[in-house]
Amino acid sequence: MSTYVIVGGVAGGATAAARLRRMDEQAQIILLERGPYVSFANCGLPYHIGEVIQDREALLVSTPEKLAAEFAIDVRTEQEAIAIDRAARQVVVRDLRTAETYRLDYDKLILSPGARSVVPPVPGVDAPGVYTLRSIPDMDAIKARVDAGDVQQAVIVGGGFIGLEMAENLSHRGVAVTVVEMAPQVMTAFDFEIAAMLHRHLREKGVRLALGDGLQQIEERAPGQLTVTLASGNQIPADLVILAIGVRPESELAARADLPLGPRGHILVNEHMQTADPDIYAVGDAIQVIHPITGAATAIPLAGPANRQARIAADHITGKDSAYRGTMGTSIVKVFDLTAACTGTNSQTLEKQGIPFLSSITHSNDHVGYYPGATPQTIKLLYAPDDGKLLGAQVVGYNAVDRSIDALAVAVQAGMTVYDLEHLELAYAPPYGAAKDAVNIAGFVAANQLRGDTDLVQVQDLPRLLESPDVGILDVRTDAEWQIGHIPNAVHIPNTQLRARLNELSQDKRWVVYCAIGRRAYVMERMLKQHGYRAMNLSGGYNTYRVVTEPQSNIGQPPADDEAPIAIQLPQAANTPQKEIVAMIESETPALELNACGLQCPGPIMAVYKKMQEMQPGQTLRVVATDPGFKRDVAAWAERTGNTLLEVGQTNGHITALLRKGSTQPQVTVQEGGVLPNAKTMVVFSGDLDHALASFVIANGAAAMGKQVTMFFTFWGLNILRR
Ligand code: FAD
Repeated sequence: MSTYVIVGGVAGGATAAARLRRMDEQAQIILLERGPYVSFANCGLPYHIGEVIQDREALLVSTPEKLAAEFAIDVRTEQEAIAIDRAARQVVVRDLRTAETYRLDYDKLILSPGARSVVPPVPGVDAPGVYTLRSIPDMDAIKARVDAGDVQQAVIVGGGFIGLEMAENLSHRGVAVTVVEMAPQVMTAFDFEIAAMLHRHLREKGVRLALGDGLQQIEERAPGQLTVTLASGNQIPADLVILAIGVRPESELAARADLPLGPRGHILVNEHMQTADPDIYAVGDAIQVIHPITGAATAIPLAGPANRQARIAADHITGKDSAYRGTMGTSIVKVFDLTAACTGTNSQTLEKQGIPFLSSITHSNDHVGYYPGATPQTIKLLYAPDDGKLLGAQVVGYNAVDRSIDALAVAVQAGMTVYDLEHLELAYAPPYGAAKDAVNIAGFVAANQLRGDTDLVQVQDLPRLLESPDVGILDVRTDAEWQIGHIPNAVHIPNTQLRARLNELSQDKRWVVYCAIGRRAYVMERMLKQHGYRAMNLSGGYNTYRVVTEPQSNIGQPPADDEAPIAIQLPQAANTPQKEIVAMIESETPALELNACGLQCPGPIMAVYKKMQEMQPGQTLRVVATDPGFKRDVAAWAERTGNTLLEVGQTNGHITALLRKGSTQPQVTVQEGGVLPNAKTMVVFSGDLDHALASFVIANGAAAMGKQVTMFFTFWGLNILRR
């Protein structure tokens, strides 16, 4: 009978133990875990703090009792493996309850000790109120603080998976969150264009971003009150600080046993997960792996790889020739209403490793626009310039991102090319996809580039290109879109007029053509080329240009146009106590409704324009759209066309705007001794308590006079309510 000892009882360890039992009924299997719990769902920890997962017990996937009953595994919690005697094939264990040590014989040993959170060496990281999140006790401590109700502001250091999941979950709990990130972007596994979409969404959700800034110190200014100082000198008050800047492998046990480690301290293993000692295996966050795309050594701390490696180690121990194929880092993260996912490599890694690549950005809908609820999805592909082999893919959107990334992950792993993506036969019916799926479209565009049908220009290459006097930039969007915003120095000729106005374009120049997302520009690029022009297409179009070029951090700055609540212009009214704070709007005539969901830019604006033409001045229109640019577009469009945007909000990828035709100011009817009409809506858009109270006073007054009062809280208004 063999004895298998496993160090670490969570993702890799518990999986290995169960697989070993399935393969070897006779063996003695001992699972050692330093902490009080085994087989818990660390991936669910942020969501219990946010009370999305309400039942704490649901995180305990298994227990020592269940593992003993179902798998006959000897599970020992609060037992730390402190040394390995390789010659004697024994593990030295300390019982953390009694401090006694004892030895365990093994025939095969599996190490799955995971990783620990990195704590940066800056003053104050040990102050009360500063936490890391790795285990159930960590989660309990953070949740207890939030539950106590005295956490109003939190600083999260690190904009990776755990940092962003905590930002969302603390926001759910009514905490104002600032994310500090040393890199110029969150989620460094993604390219900047994709991360910039996350930045915009985080800002829209009220998260403050301090990008390209580092933690310098944490001071406790009073019990429970911290001040976080950044390298820039910015100081942020906080009741809670979470350090989420990455992990370090727990490889000290292996190091003490003279097992070879990689340059960053990860345990070195072969394809069967064996260390340099064939009787000792290692899996999970603690090991170094090979990246199958770059062929380089790397370490990717994710649950899927840990589970698969554990299965391979158990298989090999029990006589199967299983081998690991490497980790390419397929991962996915929910950031409020958005989901972002990636697979393979990103541009930065390819550049660093000197691997040549091309890239494309496409914006499609997750399902056909005519079926309700369609939302946009952005795909960035990275591929080899010679044969089109896929090197990586990134997807961001509101829905079905998991479906697209999984198709792309399979394609990357199978060594497929962008030409293969053109031929992928993916499931389609209107609620789920499109006859030309977003993944097919990404393949069409990339393949068009490789075949020479289109020349794609990346947004980051635009400034360099435009330095040359023989390069011009051509905007082929509609007048309405142009008015909302455009690239400086662009020539504007709408696509529907370009054929008739070709003589306005110099043939001596190379033209970078752009539209909103790249589709109309591609058609015009093809047309121009066939008329002898040299033309290129801006990949991702103006949508990508705009999100990449806007300010990314918002700490210490007033919210940008599209993030601020829309301030309603008020006429002078005798008794309006804070005219910039509270607006009272006539709301007796119901607003007309317009559903522009599923339409991509410029669709929603064109639909609004058409509808407004049918309306009478003063009439209101409520529009729902899913194009992410609509929130900003509608504000700019209303301003430039003399209409009035009364309110705009966003939930779950749906943007709702209330517009009034014409610039006639809403009539404010609260006047000294005045009489209110029967229905009133108040819009509160201040984060100041006095202002919010003033609006309640007015509302009460109106209600006391027998009026029906509705109070609408914009983002800032909501924040003050939460507090
Ligand atoms: P772990 O699961 O961490 O287990 C290691 C265990 O070993 C620990 O319990 C530790 O106490 C124990 N141990 C260490 N040394 C000893 C010793 N000497 N003696 C005894 N016991 C020891 N991954 C994803 O793919 N998707 C996600 O959404 C995701 N979300 C996450 C969210 C959070 C908050 C965290 C912390 C991680 C998340 N991960 C996610 C990462 C994933 O949980 C890890 O990659 C995975 O758990 C690694 O498995 P492992 O077995 O190597 O280590």
